[in-house]
Amino acid sequence: MSEFNNEIWFVGAEMSPLVKAGGLGDVMGSLPKVLLKSGINIRVVIPYYKNIIPENLIEIKEVYPAGKVNFGEIPFEFGIKTGFAMGDIPIVLIEQNHFFNREDVYGSHGGVCAYKDNLWRYAMFAHGTAYAMKILGIPLIVHAHDWSGGLVPAVIRQTLGDKKVLIEGTSEGILNAKLGRRINAKGLRPAIVFTIHNLAYQGVYGIDDFYDIGLDFRYNSSEAFEHFGTFNSLKGGIKLSDAVTTVSPTYSNEITTPEFGFGLDGELEMFKRSGRLNGILNGIDLDYWNPKTDRLVSHNLNLKDDKYTLKDYKAWENFKAKNKKALFSDISMSLKTGPEGKPFPLIGVVSRLTEEKGIDEFLDSLFNWKDFPFQVVILGSGRDNIEDKANYLSKIYRDKVYAITGSYNETLSHKIYAASDIFVMPSKFEPCGLSQMIAMRYGCVVAAADTGGLHDTVSDMTDLSEKNPSGILIKHANPDAVAWALNALYNCYIEDGSKWHNLVINSANKHFGWGDSAKIYENLYYNIIK
Ligand code: ADP
Repeated sequence: MSEFNNEIWFVGAEMSPLVKAGGLGDVMGSLPKVLLKSGINIRVVIPYYKNIIPENLIEIKEVYPAGKVNFGEIPFEFGIKTGFAMGDIPIVLIEQNHFFNREDVYGSHGGVCAYKDNLWRYAMFAHGTAYAMKILGIPLIVHAHDWSGGLVPAVIRQTLGDKKVLIEGTSEGILNAKLGRRINAKGLRPAIVFTIHNLAYQGVYGIDDFYDIGLDFRYNSSEAFEHFGTFNSLKGGIKLSDAVTTVSPTYSNEITTPEFGFGLDGELEMFKRSGRLNGILNGIDLDYWNPKTDRLVSHNLNLKDDKYTLKDYKAWENFKAKNKKALFSDISMSLKTGPEGKPFPLIGVVSRLTEEKGIDEFLDSLFNWKDFPFQVVILGSGRDNIEDKANYLSKIYRDKVYAITGSYNETLSHKIYAASDIFVMPSKFEPCGLSQMIAMRYGCVVAAADTGGLHDTVSDMTDLSEKNPSGILIKHANPDAVAWALNALYNCYIEDGSKWHNLVINSANKHFGWGDSAKIYENLYYNIIK
């Protein structure tokens, strides 16, 4: 018998509201909050970065003694801190200044210019996590995330053994906080769940790097990190976990195909066939992203119920008009009106500007249009060529396009969601996508590529069997197809009839919270320790 804490540890590189580079940060902040509310003991483990917002940290304490790990010949010390993140979520911070005291999470330009030593940084994070378990008590379950959490399963195994914890009798309810902290269970290591948030990022390095990151040699194998002569962090995470999830049902099928599998489709196909790969749709924090109470937007939605009907359209129209006026005043853009006397619809973009997001194709669709009938606000950072194109467009269409590139701006993102009529996401692939969920919550009609989580969340108005359309899905998101979709939405908008009103109300009624998906995770947790 070993003693475990009846806890689940979420281990990942970001956590909102402490530090966020993209959707992973949202999930690491919001899912634990929901599980905590349903009575499960949760702790979130992240690196102690320089750019963590200090006001969001509560009761932070140093835990002694500090840990040590050798990377090749070089010894590194690291510290452990415990405390809470705003919202009362218990956290563990892995402190190592050489690796984590930097301006960005993964590197500059939304991670496009990644830090060269990211493998070392996240190896340090994995060693720190395993050490923290020794000091603070072993959790029943570790839920690790993405390539940056990919070394966590290996380091846990080499520290605590390969034998997984099992609860005798019924495991139902065992994770409940009320049962007391310590429980007896068979086994030496926590059960491990691993979530793939984006298969395009695998943390691939030269195989020689393997010897510098404190891993047992046995993990230099195709059953762990070795992948066609390289070191693949994500593959090791997948292979050494007990269950693997990804962030939408459609994406869980797509990644078993060569088109979307980025070289790991074979492995994932095997996991899928043996029932160990599940697609569980992400949710958003409906309290944080709430048009009625959001303090970062200029005007709140003036409605009581969360179930909207067509009668509520006026209130939504008002909400959009006021927020658009405020946003335009902030960015000094004047409202443009079409020949019909109605303001042009505002298209919003809040996105990493990488090839996968299809924003390049969206910009080209505007270029190719003779005189596009939209105003556009773009917030994003990423590849130089896409940032440059957005800035160029805003120069030549000064009164129609405004681009804020190279920066991450949470407040402005809220203002854009609140002001936009249309939100575009023509992604080449999209594991889940949270931006479209947020946009819908704020009453935007979404034009999105028909892929991954976008397929699972946007109800397509061109599908005649769809009862509650909330946007338009684009089959092959090239510039012409994006223009076709935007034109279709423009026609609905300018008619200003029931079709557009329905799209807005259906969109706002979607409410992609964590409810159902958190329950699916709970069941998964119970099942793997049974
Ligand atoms: P991904 O994780 O692939 O970047 P998601 O749609 O899952 O895409 O999540 C993106 C999240 O990051 C959303 O919360 C979105 O609002 C936010 N975001 C992206 N870029 C920026 C930015 N430049 N400033 C503020 N928020 C941003």
